[in-house]
Amino acid sequence: MISLRVYVDPDLCIACGLCVDLCPEVFDWNEEGVAEARVDEVPEELEELAMEALESCPTDAIIGEDMSDVEEEDEVLSMEEDIEEE
Ligand code: SF4
Repeated sequence: MISLRVYVDPDLCIACGLCVDLCPEVFDWNEEGVAEARVDEVPEELEELAMEALESCPTDAIIGEDMSDVEEEDEVLSMEEDIEEE
């Protein structure tokens, strides 16, 4: 599981509407008429769509940040080790 935060760089956004169409729960228009992220952290069920928007943005205006910390990764790894041992 990842924990995703997204931002839109207003200088790069050309207001094509792709991200807003694709994932309106996360992206919306701001007062300047460019896209912005509506949420601080993307809900888990919308991560896939938000990532699709990020990857599809024609100007790479959407910046994503994976907030899952190293501790969680360690936890997953140690769980995998446990499974292997069994
Ligand atoms: S996909 Fe990119 S360029 Fe298009 S509206 Fe969204 S942020 Fe702006």
